Amino acid sequence: MGKSKTNKLFEKPIVKSFIFYSTFRAFYGTGILLITWLFTTNTEAPLWMSIIFLLCSMIFSRVLMKKIKTKDSLKLRLKLYKLKGDKYHCPICGFKSKDMFDIGENFPVLYQKDIIACGKRKAGCYKCNSTDKERLIYLFLINDFKIESKAKNIKLLHIAPEENLTKLFLKLNFEEYLCGDLFLGGYNYPNYVENMNLLELPLNDNIIDLVICNHVLEHIIDDKIAMREIYRVLKPGGKAILQVPISANTIETIEDYKITSKSQREEHFGQHDHVRIYGQDYVQKLNSIGFTTEVINIYENYKNFAINPKENIYLVTK
Ligand SMILES: [Zn+2]
Repeated sequence: MGKSKTNKLFEKPIVKSFIFYSTFRAFYGTGILLITWLFTTNTEAPLWMSIIFLLCSMIFSRVLMKKIKTKDSLKLRLKLYKLKGDKYHCPICGFKSKDMFDIGENFPVLYQKDIIACGKRKAGCYKCNSTDKERLIYLFLINDFKIESKAKNIKLLHIAPEENLTKLFLKLNFEEYLCGDLFLGGYNYPNYVENMNLLELPLNDNIIDLVICNHVLEHIIDDKIAMREIYRVLKPGGKAILQVPISANTIETIEDYKITSKSQREEHFGQHDHVRIYGQDYVQKLNSIGFTTEVINIYENYKNFAINPKENIYLVTK
């Protein structure tokens, strides 16, 4: 038992690198001291030679350690260099590649129900890890919604914020930028994210100009309460982008609250933490809350940006 614990300790990357660097430095230092000693004890070698040697060895060791520490980033750069191509262009990081990595689940129900924005697909950017779902919102907000020029007059509420979109939003000069997520045990959240329950937003009525809620509602049993909360906090005329995965061949939303285990949800809804499959009645659901819903497809304008041709943007207005 004790031995396996010790083995586990030595397998930790931080312990491994500590041992590696310490050993390397010990050998390197001993070598340098030995050569310096030889120089200083050699009566024919002038003193300045020892000093120059010591200075050069210090500089060399600094450069060498830096190179060793950036080995991983060099590996990544090499990988990205090999992936360079024209097939996909990531609008978020600007990387042009011949390939993207697979994301999404592979459960049969995803294909039987033709669920848009789910299912296994080549949609992950090797450079910034963005997905097609993030790139869609990014392209729409930047190019169509013109968010950069409007930012200073916008109070934005970003639910379950995606890292790549947050990076952009933090750079823009919003009147206010609020990030909220329901904090779950075992996860770490960046300090700009507040613990918020979408069923009970800690915000006053009519104060928000724009809400972004990208693929969140399919995780919430009381989705209508969440939609009402978004409606409540929006100013009259305020807008929200409310993306969900939708079945292309099903009219009525499929839900069954007796389905609660992870494996049942994977089988019936295509993901262990999804509680329904939205059908084509999604727009009616949004409108029943009081929203006016626009369904926008921007694919034709952004064919090379690795977004899903079938994923629409659901832009609602209070
Ligand atoms: Zn990217």
